[in-house]
This record gives sequence, C-alpha cells and structure tokens, in this order.
Amino acid sequence: MVVLSGRATSLPASPIRAMMAQAARYPDAVRLEMGEPDFTTPEPYMEAAFAAARRGATHYTPTVGIPELRRAIAERVRADYALELDPDREILVSVGAVGALTVACLAVVQPGDEVLVPDPGWPVYRAQVALAGGVVVPVPLREENAFHMRPEDIEARITPRTRALIINTPHNPTGAVLGEHELREIAEVAYRHGLVVISDEVYEKLLYDGRRHFPLAGIPEVRRQVITISGVSKTYAMTGWRLGYAHAVPEIISAMARIQECLASCTSSLSQHAALAALSGDQGPVAEMHAQYDRRRRFLVEGLNRLPGISCLLPEGAFYVFPSVRALGRTSAELAQELLVRTRVVTVPGSGFGEAGEGYLRLSYATSLEALEEGLRRLERFLG
Ligand code: PLP
Repeated sequence: MVVLSGRATSLPASPIRAMMAQAARYPDAVRLEMGEPDFTTPEPYMEAAFAAARRGATHYTPTVGIPELRRAIAERVRADYALELDPDREILVSVGAVGALTVACLAVVQPGDEVLVPDPGWPVYRAQVALAGGVVVPVPLREENAFHMRPEDIEARITPRTRALIINTPHNPTGAVLGEHELREIAEVAYRHGLVVISDEVYEKLLYDGRRHFPLAGIPEVRRQVITISGVSKTYAMTGWRLGYAHAVPEIISAMARIQECLASCTSSLSQHAALAALSGDQGPVAEMHAQYDRRRRFLVEGLNRLPGISCLLPEGAFYVFPSVRALGRTSAELAQELLVRTRVVTVPGSGFGEAGEGYLRLSYATSLEALEEGLRRLERFLG
C-alpha cells in the first residue's frame, strides 16, 4: 500500500468539479454549474498563437514570461488604471490565475500562519492555503451587506498569527464588487496589521451597471504588501490556454518566480502569444461578450425571483448569481442533488463555497440565453 501524504489526502475535492462530473452522465442536462465563458476564444488570439508556433516559438520561455507579454500587461494596467508597473521586475506570467495564486501562497504563507479568506469564496483559496501549510480563517460575507467583505469582520478575526488576507472582486460566487471606498477601508486594516493581501481580480472586466473596477494596488500606502492576481481566462474566453499573471513588488515577484520555476518552469509559450494578442489588440470582443453576459444576468435574476422560495440579488460583477434557497427547507447540497436528478439542471451548492454559503446555490450565466430559459422552465415546473 502506498502511503499518501496528509497534504494529498486532506485536500477537499472541488464542489464545482464534483457537480460537473455528475452532470456529464446526463446528456440532456442544463449546465449552470460552469465557471467559464461559453464563448470560444476570439479568432485573432488563436491566429496569433498559430503564427507564433509557425515562427518557431515552441520553446521554453523565461520563468516570468516573454518580455513582450509582460510589457503588454504593464501597458494594459497603465491604460486601465493609471498604475505604473516595471515589466522586468514586477510581473509574473503564470499557469492560469490559479498558478499565480499557488506561487503567491507558497511565497508568503509559512506553516501555521493564519490566512483570512472570503466565505463564501472560491474553494481553491482554502485548498491553496492548506497546501502551503497555512490555517484558513473564513471571513463571512453576508447577504444583508450584498455579500461585500466588511473591514470590521476582517479586523475581528486578526490574531498575532494572521499573515495574509485574500480578497476577490468581482467575487465568485456572489458577484459582489468592492468599491474604492470599501477597498480603502480594507487596505487601512491590512496596513495597520502588516498583512499581505492577495487580491484576486480575475473578473476585473466583468462589472455591470456602469461600475468601474478599482485595483487594490492603486492605493499607494499598501501597494508594497499587495499581490494582484488576474489573467485572460474570463475576460477573453481563454480558460483552456492556462494563462494568468500576478503583479507585486520585485522582492515578492522574484520569490514567486523561484517557486514557479520548480512547479512549471514557465507557462505555455503559445498561450503567451495568444494572450499578447488579446491584451494588446482590439478590445471589441470583450465588449461584445460583456453585453451578452449583462443581458443574461438580468434575464436569469428576473426569472429566479419569480420562482417560489427563491430570492436573488442582482449581481454587480462576474458571471454568477447566488440566490437564497433557504425557504425551500433543504440543505443546499440536498437541493442541488435533487435539482440534478429530477430536473437535470446543474447548479453548485452554496455550502461548497464555505459554511456561510449554506442556504444558497450558485448558478452561472456564462451560457446561452436558450439554456437559461430552459433551466428556468424546468425549475418552475419542479418548484411549482
Ligand atoms: N479566481 C477566481 C475567483 C476564479 O473563479 C477562477 C476560476 O474559476 C480563477 C481565479 C482561475 O482562473 P484561471 O483560469 O486564470 O486559473
């Protein structure tokens, strides 16, 4: 018998992937559990990758990514947020945003360190903190605050062992978007307690109703202790290319690069060329996809709020809704299972995102309006 590491055996399985695996058994399923754009990557980005391959860009790249891509990231961040980054020392190109998160956690979390994470929150945060030997301390997000993280809830959980805080805006699974004022309050707490803040901004281009993303690193007082994580997966419909990036001060980026070197060497050269085309090219496709998500968001929320026992806030960003299903009198896991088996509508139980997610389901609207319409029809039949 092979004895597996405690690290391997204690890692929880992703509730999202568990639902995906079950859904695969039902060909007529309406798939609302997916956390990725339904669109295919826009043609010009693919062409850039093919052309790069033909030119011979089929080799390893520098650990931190090709210089042209790092410059394009710096340029994008400057154009969007007036934030100056040194592309040679302050940017790391990673294997998806998830890869940036892995190396960020391994670079700053010591065994036994406490790390504050949003609850509900993307389950990978908990897993990554555990993988780095850290202790997960959930910060509850409450519906009465529209699921916004409150500075007093952060502060109340800080101990002498607290090392880092993970924030995520726009937020998976609730769609909450933190405004500049709230981020300044959170930054003030982080500054006062010397916390590293890992700011996951991977949905930075998916905000609605005229909201504008504000990057935490735009607050000069805390910039030295912020690791910003983003990528091309969600914005440019490029999840399969596995390309993300992080920016932070040079000491942190070089530590992250040393770790990435032994985990992955670098990410795919071809994906880097596709991302270069995406970040530096015409942003028209982003606006088109955004318009479609927005339409679907309103449609789904209106439809859900018409169903008995379900109430749903209008999400401010990302492409998820997180309706309350408490009134239906089952746990979220029981309900998600029942919906799958009896209606073939696939959702993710809120409890999969943390204890505070109990009583909710996550549904994604990164799917066609027809699928949303069919999903709502089935839910109506079931609940009615
Ligand atoms: N961060 C959040 C909040 C996510 O929801 C996801 C994917 O679902 C990621 C990061 C990972 O993105 P990537 O595909 O770039 O690894």
